[in-house]
Amino acid sequence: MTKFTDLGLGAEVLKAIAETGYDTPTAIQEQAIPVALTGLDVLGIAQTGTGKTAAFTLPMIERLAAGRSKARMPRSIVLAPTRELADQVAEAFEKYAKYHKLNWALLIGGVSMADQVAKLDKGVDVLICTPGRLLDLFERSKVLLTGVQIMVVDEADRMLDMGFIPDIERIFKLTPPTRQTLFFSATMPPEITRLTTQFLRNPVRIEVSRPASTNENITQYVLRVPHKDPRAKRIALRALLKTLDIKNGIVFCNRKTDVDIVAKSLTAHGFNAAPIHGDLDQALRMRTLDSFRKGDLTLLVASDVAARGLDIPDVGHVFNFDVSHHADDYVHRVGRTGRAGRSGEAYLLLSPADEKNYDKVVKLIKKDPAVLELDVDYSALSESPRQPGRESSKPRTRKDRDHAPKGKRDFEADMQPIEKPVKPAKKEAPTPAPEAIETRPEKPARREKKSEKSTDKQRVESPFGDHMPAFLLRPVVIKADS
Ligand code: AMP
Repeated sequence: MTKFTDLGLGAEVLKAIAETGYDTPTAIQEQAIPVALTGLDVLGIAQTGTGKTAAFTLPMIERLAAGRSKARMPRSIVLAPTRELADQVAEAFEKYAKYHKLNWALLIGGVSMADQVAKLDKGVDVLICTPGRLLDLFERSKVLLTGVQIMVVDEADRMLDMGFIPDIERIFKLTPPTRQTLFFSATMPPEITRLTTQFLRNPVRIEVSRPASTNENITQYVLRVPHKDPRAKRIALRALLKTLDIKNGIVFCNRKTDVDIVAKSLTAHGFNAAPIHGDLDQALRMRTLDSFRKGDLTLLVASDVAARGLDIPDVGHVFNFDVSHHADDYVHRVGRTGRAGRSGEAYLLLSPADEKNYDKVVKLIKKDPAVLELDVDYSALSESPRQPGRESSKPRTRKDRDHAPKGKRDFEADMQPIEKPVKPAKKEAPTPAPEAIETRPEKPARREKKSEKSTDKQRVESPFGDHMPAFLLRPVVIKADS
């Protein structure tokens, strides 16, 4: 078995690796590091989770160890599609270059430029950035790219998805043709192939596949939810969460709207949860991730895209609120736990609507997750009157709700904190509760008054006449749009 010491890395880098606790290189590291150390171009076809960040970071550190940077002329650049990924690359440099005198700067949108520009003025060895921000600075003459010796393009196919290819082409053209290029992409669509043909020089192609099976140290369970009602899964999820001892976990939903709904519902029931998806403000996403990494936030409710590429080590539980449309994504979701030899648990909520996608998952992973026998009380579903055309879990707007006949507000019954929470949200959680950000808060006094009033009105307007079900008469505190 190949060891890190066999790859041609120097003593300082090896010491830093040993301190991170890694003992054997991953496939992409084993193949890419020796090639990159020679100065050749690398075309790495690898996904997040394969260890590709270290595969380019480690040889860069070695190659940059000799030499000095000049003001405004970075010696290397790493281009990442998102700020979170750029941030992760920066963390990797911090970790692996701790015994070197290399300096790096992180240039990402949404955060103040002043400090980074000051760093650039002093001279940086590694500039980690998103393409737009780099070009922005270039246009302001704050950075020159003629001193770039190594250029890394990370997650190129994702750059394509995000429309960054013209920016990448432009950056390639601004750097010297003699540079070394380390280019990584999970897939090779034609546009990416064209880019590599145009800008890489005889690259060594290294391809590692993402495992098509789930890790052995992850125990997988499926919880059947025998109802189509969108609230049923939220009820099941809460019931499940209460049976578990959770340090931290990620709840995956297929749709951004469900990410919001589930996060709000969990919060309303006293769980420490927050959403992350592409429509949320960048600064908020970073804060949410940060508090999840620090352990201040217990449950991260995420969409696949937002979670793609995020390195969050040591997640104890993964919950598939829906079965992913692509079976491959299931493996990816589940792979968020059970990392680095730790054990993990993955749960899947399987409603009748998910059966088709589930078959594809079982086929791919070649095993049947254990069926979890959990006595879930779905009685709240039958108690609530059905509202025609409300099968969809699309969140209702405040306007919708306020204009709905009063009794119908209880369709959001599961949003009311009626159950005792397992793990209450910390009082000073650094991440604001999602409803505080995304909806206009109501004044508590007015809310109470409104609830009282609506109870009276229900008697008059109710289709149930005098036989109003008791739960409809309960005063309701509406916390947020569901
Ligand atoms: P990446 O694909 O670069 O995002 O890395 C995925 C995860 O694997 C990160 O948490 C790394 O810290 C971790 N990792 C990278 N290299 C190794 C290794 N050789 N052994 C164990 N874990 C690693």
